[in-house]
Amino acid sequence: MRLSKRAVSIKPSPTLAIDSKAKALKASGVDVVNFGVGEPDFDTPQNIKEAAIKAIRDGFTKYTPVGGIEELKVAVIEKFRRDNGLAYAKNEIIVSCGAKHSLYNIAEALLDPGDEIIIPAPYWVSYPDQALLNDAVPVIVKTDEKNLFKITPELLKSNLSKKTKALILNSPSNPTGLAYDLKSLEAIADIAAENDFYVISDEIYEKLVYDGFRHVSIASLGDKIKQRTIVVNGLSKAYAMTGWRIGFAAGPKEIIGAMTNIQSQSTSNPTSIAQKAAVEALRGAQDFIPVMVAEFNRRRAYMVEALNKIKGISCLMPVGAFYAFPNVSSYYGKSFKGKPVNSSFDLSSYLIEEANVALVPGGAFGDDRYIRLSYATSMDHIKKGLDRIEKALANLA
Ligand SMILES: *Cc1c(COP(=O)(O)O)cnc(C)c1O
Repeated sequence: MRLSKRAVSIKPSPTLAIDSKAKALKASGVDVVNFGVGEPDFDTPQNIKEAAIKAIRDGFTKYTPVGGIEELKVAVIEKFRRDNGLAYAKNEIIVSCGAKHSLYNIAEALLDPGDEIIIPAPYWVSYPDQALLNDAVPVIVKTDEKNLFKITPELLKSNLSKKTKALILNSPSNPTGLAYDLKSLEAIADIAAENDFYVISDEIYEKLVYDGFRHVSIASLGDKIKQRTIVVNGLSKAYAMTGWRIGFAAGPKEIIGAMTNIQSQSTSNPTSIAQKAAVEALRGAQDFIPVMVAEFNRRRAYMVEALNKIKGISCLMPVGAFYAFPNVSSYYGKSFKGKPVNSSFDLSSYLIEEANVALVPGGAFGDDRYIRLSYATSMDHIKKGLDRIEKALANLA
């Protein structure tokens, strides 16, 4: 086989792979607790489904403008104004087949071979591979738990080079659940302006926040930073719409225009029916979100407290998203029946095999000391899964 260098340089999304492994085990009759999930366990709200059904009945089933229907672009513009205090024009907005697709279009629109893109670790799994798919160089910058996993101004500056094209920010973060405060964002915005690089700001978890945390979009910190920021967001997480594939991006019209051209030659428009559903999601009643967030909040409190009670585990309290990211490295060097556990990958294999608990190794996110547990699953599963983890860890010697 003679595949392209580009194709062999990347790996399948490890989070999706673990999720399908857990689902397959479950289908074969094993009682699996799946902490690997990266999507809300809530159903899409009824009003949104009805809007899609109406779209089908009305025959809204043909090609639409590549970057999204007018009505949806207007709803996205209203969303940015309402939630983020940001003003965009229609030619500064693109709707894509999920936020992941918007991010991919950005990578294609901005990155030339050899360009460097700074990716703070722990990172969302697709950022480095999307850069590699465009022959760019991911510059992985490891952050510290002591700094709540934020890239500090010093770290950022020491990783800049003449080839730095962009920085990816993800706040609130998948996998850590932590988020950037206003002061940290201001410092990053200044560095971006001084050194002339773009900021790609993935804000998909902005509405899933706890303890009164207030999300701020870095693009809203003044004209200088807005001109060099592409904000990415979408409906998957906040409206429990992962399968509908609607995400969007906002930024300078030249970049959005390039992304739209790329989209026109690759996927064309996102699904017409899903676009109508998205209009309803953004414009209709928003009361679903606080209900879901309250339930996530209850599970977050339980999970993080239970994790910290397990000997040898420490876990920061997340302020957003639906993941806990505990440090489990004190177990490395131990073994079970002669099989050593020396990494997050070993530990995750051990836990799925011996305890039937699926979770994602931190190594997949660029920090091997941790594991990621999603609490987008029932309280019963959370209790059962954590009990199993505690027992299984106690069997390591
Ligand atoms: C889920 C997720 C996305 C992608 O969401 P889609 O809109 O479903 O493509 C992007 N970024 C992060 C950090 C995510 O967790």
